[in-house]
Amino acid sequence: MTTDMDTIVSLCKRRGFIFQSSEIYGGLGSTWDYGPLGVELKNNVKRAWWQDMVYRRDDMEGLDAAILMNPKVWEASGHVAGFTDPLVDCKECKKRFRADHVEGAVCPECGGGLTEARQFNLMFKTFMGPVEDDAALAYLRPETAQGIFVNFANVLESRRRKLPFGIAQIGKSFRNEITPGNFTFRTREFEQMEMEFFVEPSTADEWFDYWVNERHNWYFRYGMRPENVRLRPHADDELAHYAQGCYDVEYLFPMGWSELEGIAHRGDFDLKAHADASGRNLTYFDDKTRERYVPYVIEPAAGADRATLAFLVDAYREEEIRERKRTVLKLHPALAPFKVAILPLLRNRPEVVETARNLYADLRRFFPTDYNDTGAIGRLYARQDEVGTPFCVTIDVQTLDDQQVTIRDRDTTEQERIGLDQVRTYVQDKMVVE
Ligand code: ATP
Repeated sequence: MTTDMDTIVSLCKRRGFIFQSSEIYGGLGSTWDYGPLGVELKNNVKRAWWQDMVYRRDDMEGLDAAILMNPKVWEASGHVAGFTDPLVDCKECKKRFRADHVEGAVCPECGGGLTEARQFNLMFKTFMGPVEDDAALAYLRPETAQGIFVNFANVLESRRRKLPFGIAQIGKSFRNEITPGNFTFRTREFEQMEMEFFVEPSTADEWFDYWVNERHNWYFRYGMRPENVRLRPHADDELAHYAQGCYDVEYLFPMGWSELEGIAHRGDFDLKAHADASGRNLTYFDDKTRERYVPYVIEPAAGADRATLAFLVDAYREEEIRERKRTVLKLHPALAPFKVAILPLLRNRPEVVETARNLYADLRRFFPTDYNDTGAIGRLYARQDEVGTPFCVTIDVQTLDDQQVTIRDRDTTEQERIGLDQVRTYVQDKMVVE
């Protein structure tokens, strides 16, 4: 059972996760702003990906390429000619749809007749410098992957890498999507987490299997419920002409199973295309076998916004615990915006407040910590549950005597007493992912 999207949208607005962009002016079609808690959650998703893809591996390098690139990149990659969706227009209400999103030849909104399908390029165009002519034309990148391919030789040489190795990048991409929607699932400005893994061609199939498995399992490491995630192999007629295989990791969003991430076996298509178009040598020399070849590439391409949305939907529960109804976000501690909230029970007692404030100041040096003394404890717990704070710490008069605090677990609501000086490691240990 999944929650409906309106419930998630409303929680996101109410509790400061995601707001409609430019809302005071009526918004702008399917663009969204991450609020105080949303920016933490999304940063944590990106950090988790970077941690696992870059820091915890010895066969990976990071990269942050520019959004604006030489337009020749997009000619060589095939995006200028081929990055298109077939479109149909309604002759009555003039609305525009992706041909593969409508059934038959009638408008899904008003029942009017539709035009023949036309190709529509999804790349946003802009102009560099003061003159708006074709010579100054530039594109906002529609994917981060090409920034990796054009830097393959730079990274290989500067880091003295041997195959196999990968290059990982997180960054904004832009697509003039015809039918954005489903909250942040499909937007025109979004963030990708992409990696290109370069391998010796005869090992590519094995690496493909490895990465499909690795990326599928990644979502479970951060607590996603297994019944909501599945792998779907692409049918032959779905594959890009150069791709030798592709799997989607899909999530059971409120609107149904939809792509979270794609893992593609791209052969040598990209490096060859850029070598041909640029005239640069993008081969690899294997000094053991004395052979020179163009590496094959396995590409896991994920979306930071889609993953964030999936983690939110997956964590959302309405439940009854100890005869009290509550809404709770059961986010993994590594992803939760606040890791712990400090709640002094007696705000009229200066020593209690001072102890609580000191703990708050200490913990903030290590991870995001909240502090709240503005209500009854039941309400304070409920508010923290709703934003997914995994632990709440209460300070009372007894703390002043025994230097112990009560720590409450969000998921079980069970409480235990631990030392004031143990709170930091207690929380930090729960954030670690094996
Ligand atoms: P779709 O079929 O949903 O349009 P795609 O197959 O074109 O996606 P890729 O080009 O493989 O997507 O991009 C990799 C990842 O980037 C996707 O799995 C998704 O998580 C993310 N992504 C792509 N387009 C968007 C978008 N318009 N809004 C948000 N995320 C996106």
